[in-house]
Amino acid sequence: MKLDIGSLLRGETDVIEFEFDLAAEAMGDVEFSKDAHVVGKVTDNGGYIQLHLNAEVPFITQCARCMDEVRDVFKTEMTLTVAAEGTVSDEELEENMDEYAIVTNGCIDIDEQVREALILDFPMRFLCSEDCPGLCPICGKKKADGDCGCSDKKEVDPRLAVLQSIIDQLDE
Ligand SMILES: [Zn+2]
Ligand SMILES: [Zn+2]
Repeated sequence: MKLDIGSLLRGETDVIEFEFDLAAEAMGDVEFSKDAHVVGKVTDNGGYIQLHLNAEVPFITQCARCMDEVRDVFKTEMTLTVAAEGTVSDEELEENMDEYAIVTNGCIDIDEQVREALILDFPMRFLCSEDCPGLCPICGKKKADGDCGCSDKKEVDPRLAVLQSIIDQLDE
Protein backbone atom coordinates (compact mmCIF):
# COMPACT_ATOMS: atom_id res chain seq x y z
CA MET A 1 0.00 0.00 0.00
CA LYS A 2 1.15 3.51 -0.80
CA LEU A 3 0.11 5.72 2.09
CA ASP A 4 -0.77 9.30 1.14
CA ILE A 5 0.49 11.54 3.94
CA GLY A 6 -0.40 14.80 2.17
CA SER A 7 -2.78 15.92 4.92
CA LEU A 8 -0.04 15.41 7.50
CA LEU A 9 2.55 17.24 5.42
CA ARG A 10 0.12 20.17 5.02
CA GLY A 11 -0.36 20.28 8.79
CA GLU A 12 -4.05 19.34 8.63
CA THR A 13 -3.50 16.42 10.98
CA ASP A 14 -0.67 15.08 13.09
CA VAL A 15 -1.48 11.40 12.90
CA ILE A 16 -2.55 9.04 10.11
CA GLU A 17 -3.37 5.46 11.06
CA PHE A 18 -3.48 2.50 8.72
CA GLU A 19 -4.21 -1.23 8.75
CA PHE A 20 -4.11 -3.64 5.83
CA ASP A 21 -3.12 -7.12 4.65
CA LEU A 22 -0.14 -7.68 2.41
CA ALA A 23 0.53 -10.81 0.34
CA ALA A 24 3.95 -12.20 1.30
CA GLU A 25 5.92 -14.22 -1.23
CA ALA A 26 7.61 -17.48 -0.19
CA MET A 27 11.29 -17.13 0.75
CA GLY A 28 13.53 -20.18 0.39
CA ASP A 29 11.80 -23.02 2.22
CA VAL A 30 9.56 -20.66 4.17
CA GLU A 31 5.95 -20.47 3.04
CA PHE A 32 3.51 -17.90 4.31
CA SER A 33 0.18 -19.50 5.09
CA LYS A 34 -1.66 -16.17 5.21
CA ASP A 35 -1.14 -12.56 4.19
CA ALA A 36 0.89 -10.36 6.50
CA HIS A 37 -1.28 -8.21 8.73
CA VAL A 38 0.11 -4.70 8.96
CA VAL A 39 -0.95 -2.04 11.48
CA GLY A 40 0.67 1.31 12.02
CA LYS A 41 0.60 5.06 12.02
CA VAL A 42 2.52 8.08 10.83
CA THR A 43 2.93 10.80 13.43
CA ASP A 44 4.05 14.41 13.19
CA ASN A 45 5.70 15.60 16.35
CA GLY A 46 6.46 19.26 15.71
CA GLY A 47 7.82 18.60 12.23
CA TYR A 48 9.57 15.36 13.17
CA ILE A 49 7.64 12.74 11.24
CA GLN A 50 7.87 9.06 12.15
CA LEU A 51 6.40 5.86 10.82
CA HIS A 52 5.51 3.20 13.39
CA LEU A 53 4.70 -0.20 12.05
CA ASN A 54 3.76 -3.66 13.30
CA ALA A 55 3.52 -6.60 10.96
CA GLU A 56 2.78 -10.24 11.62
CA VAL A 57 2.53 -13.17 9.30
CA PRO A 58 1.99 -16.90 9.94
CA PHE A 59 4.46 -19.20 8.20
CA ILE A 60 5.32 -22.86 7.65
CA THR A 61 8.87 -24.16 7.34
CA GLN A 62 11.05 -27.11 8.35
CA CYS A 63 13.02 -27.77 11.50
CA ALA A 64 16.70 -27.35 10.61
CA ARG A 65 17.61 -30.49 12.57
CA CYS A 66 14.82 -33.05 12.16
CA MET A 67 13.03 -31.63 9.08
CA ASP A 68 9.68 -31.71 10.88
CA GLU A 69 7.15 -29.08 9.89
CA VAL A 70 7.36 -25.91 11.95
CA ARG A 71 4.41 -23.52 12.09
CA ASP A 72 4.86 -20.19 13.76
CA VAL A 73 4.01 -16.50 13.46
CA PHE A 74 6.69 -13.99 12.55
CA LYS A 75 6.28 -10.58 14.15
CA THR A 76 8.20 -7.44 13.48
CA GLU A 77 7.97 -3.91 14.77
CA MET A 78 9.73 -0.77 13.60
CA THR A 79 9.90 2.96 13.97
CA LEU A 80 11.34 4.88 11.05
CA THR A 81 12.15 8.51 10.46
CA VAL A 82 10.09 9.86 7.58
CA ALA A 83 12.14 12.02 5.23
CA ALA A 84 11.28 13.75 1.97
CA GLU A 85 13.02 12.43 -1.11
CA GLY A 86 16.37 14.18 -1.56
CA THR A 87 16.71 15.41 2.02
CA VAL A 88 18.82 12.43 3.09
CA SER A 89 22.13 11.77 1.31
CA ASP A 90 22.48 8.49 -0.57
CA GLU A 91 25.40 7.60 1.67
CA GLU A 92 23.41 8.14 4.84
CA LEU A 93 20.51 6.21 3.36
CA GLU A 94 22.66 3.28 2.31
CA GLU A 95 24.19 2.98 5.76
CA ASN A 96 20.93 3.41 7.66
CA MET A 97 18.42 1.94 5.25
CA ASP A 98 16.46 0.49 8.14
CA GLU A 99 16.01 3.87 9.82
CA TYR A 100 14.31 5.85 7.09
CA ALA A 101 11.06 5.80 5.21
CA ILE A 102 11.23 8.06 2.17
CA VAL A 103 8.29 10.13 0.99
CA THR A 104 7.83 10.18 -2.77
CA ASN A 105 5.10 12.37 -4.27
CA GLY A 106 3.50 12.73 -0.85
CA CYS A 107 3.32 8.96 -0.31
CA ILE A 108 5.20 6.33 1.69
CA ASP A 109 5.47 2.87 0.17
CA ILE A 110 4.45 0.81 3.21
CA ASP A 111 4.61 -2.50 1.30
CA GLU A 112 8.27 -1.92 0.58
CA GLN A 113 9.01 -1.24 4.26
CA VAL A 114 7.28 -4.46 5.31
CA ARG A 115 9.01 -6.54 2.62
CA GLU A 116 12.39 -5.13 3.62
CA ALA A 117 11.72 -5.98 7.26
CA LEU A 118 10.72 -9.52 6.28
CA ILE A 119 13.97 -10.00 4.38
CA LEU A 120 16.20 -8.37 7.01
CA ASP A 121 14.63 -9.67 10.20
CA PHE A 122 13.43 -13.14 9.28
CA PRO A 123 15.52 -15.79 11.09
CA MET A 124 17.68 -18.00 8.87
CA ARG A 125 16.75 -21.26 10.57
CA PHE A 126 14.07 -22.67 12.81
CA LEU A 127 13.93 -25.57 15.25
CA CYS A 128 10.78 -27.48 16.19
CA SER A 129 11.99 -27.11 19.78
CA GLU A 130 15.07 -25.61 21.43
CA ASP A 131 16.44 -29.05 22.27
CA CYS A 132 15.42 -30.91 19.12
CA PRO A 133 17.81 -33.91 19.04
CA GLY A 134 17.74 -34.08 15.23
CA LEU A 135 18.19 -37.19 13.12
CA CYS A 136 20.33 -40.29 13.69
CA PRO A 137 23.38 -39.83 11.42
CA ILE A 138 23.41 -43.58 10.68
CA CYS A 139 19.79 -44.51 9.85
CA GLY A 140 18.22 -41.05 9.48
CA LYS A 141 15.47 -41.78 11.96
CA LYS A 142 14.21 -38.98 14.17
CA LYS A 143 15.90 -39.32 17.55
CA ALA A 144 12.83 -37.81 19.25
CA ASP A 145 10.83 -40.90 18.16
CA GLY A 146 12.93 -43.13 20.40
CA ASP A 147 16.22 -44.97 20.30
CA CYS A 148 16.80 -46.50 16.87
CA GLY A 149 19.52 -48.73 18.32
CA CYS A 150 22.24 -47.50 15.98
CA SER A 151 24.58 -46.51 18.79
CA ASP A 152 24.58 -50.17 19.96
CA LYS A 153 25.58 -51.42 16.50
CA LYS A 154 28.75 -49.38 16.37
CA GLU A 155 30.86 -52.39 17.28
CA VAL A 156 31.17 -54.77 14.36
CA ASP A 157 29.47 -58.11 14.83
CA PRO A 158 32.30 -60.63 15.50
CA ARG A 159 30.85 -63.07 12.93
CA LEU A 160 30.94 -60.33 10.30
CA ALA A 161 34.52 -59.55 11.31
CA VAL A 162 35.51 -63.15 10.55
CA LEU A 163 33.72 -62.97 7.22
CA GLN A 164 35.46 -59.70 6.43
CA SER A 165 38.89 -61.19 7.12
CA ILE A 166 38.10 -64.09 4.76
CA ILE A 167 37.08 -61.63 2.04
CA ASP A 168 40.26 -59.67 2.66
CA GLN A 169 42.34 -62.82 2.27
CA LEU A 170 40.58 -63.76 -0.98
CA ASP A 171 41.35 -60.32 -2.33
CA GLU A 172 45.08 -60.71 -1.75
ZN1 LIG B 1 13.27 -30.76 15.07
ZN1 LIG C 1 19.77 -44.82 13.82
